[in-house]
Amino acid sequence: MFAGLIKCADCGLALKYATVKKKNGVRRYFNCSTYSQYGKESCSIHYINYDNLYNYVLSRLQHWSKLCEADEQEMLKYLIKDGEKNSADSYAERELKKAQKRLKELDGLLAKLYEDRLSEKITERNFDSLCAKFQTEQEQLDVRISELTAEVNAKADRQQNIRNWVETIKKYSDPKELTAEMLNALIERIAVHEAETLENGEKRQKVDIYYRFIGKID
Ligand SMILES: [Zn+2]
Repeated sequence: MFAGLIKCADCGLALKYATVKKKNGVRRYFNCSTYSQYGKESCSIHYINYDNLYNYVLSRLQHWSKLCEADEQEMLKYLIKDGEKNSADSYAERELKKAQKRLKELDGLLAKLYEDRLSEKITERNFDSLCAKFQTEQEQLDVRISELTAEVNAKADRQQNIRNWVETIKKYSDPKELTAEMLNALIERIAVHEAETLENGEKRQKVDIYYRFIGKID
């Protein structure tokens, strides 16, 4: 059910599913396919026990499902804020308004310039130089406006994506087990890091879940 979803956090390639027979049953695990093919020169093992991974992913989906059910609006707000932490969207909106205003002003200035030239209030030389100056500014603003518009639209898309994701997770209310369908509907990829051994001998392994449409959330 994890096919295509589990990746090595270091080399980016898929983790390979494997089993090994033990006295007390079958042990299922994943490890880095680069490592198993080319050895430790290319990547490290990135071993993860299947059941541990399964339980972790299930617990995260249960966590988000519970939050969505408790307060959907609060959850939406949280996800939108989380996604905006590092972006300067409101800045883009402000800059876009400024640029659009300046473009309008330039239209007015150019119209006035033509009038002044017609009534011979300014010399041809001044007219040419001012005209060129305004036109260059117009061209720069056109580029800036299309960049800023794209940025602002991306924000609108993200909010829609978040709504889609929340709608999807609501379908799997309080999941008791994982299914391929649920994983594919909600998760884009799961990046498994190499396990670390802490000073006290405890093992720790980081697993990043990238959700569909919305990326990583914590
Ligand atoms: Zn790897």
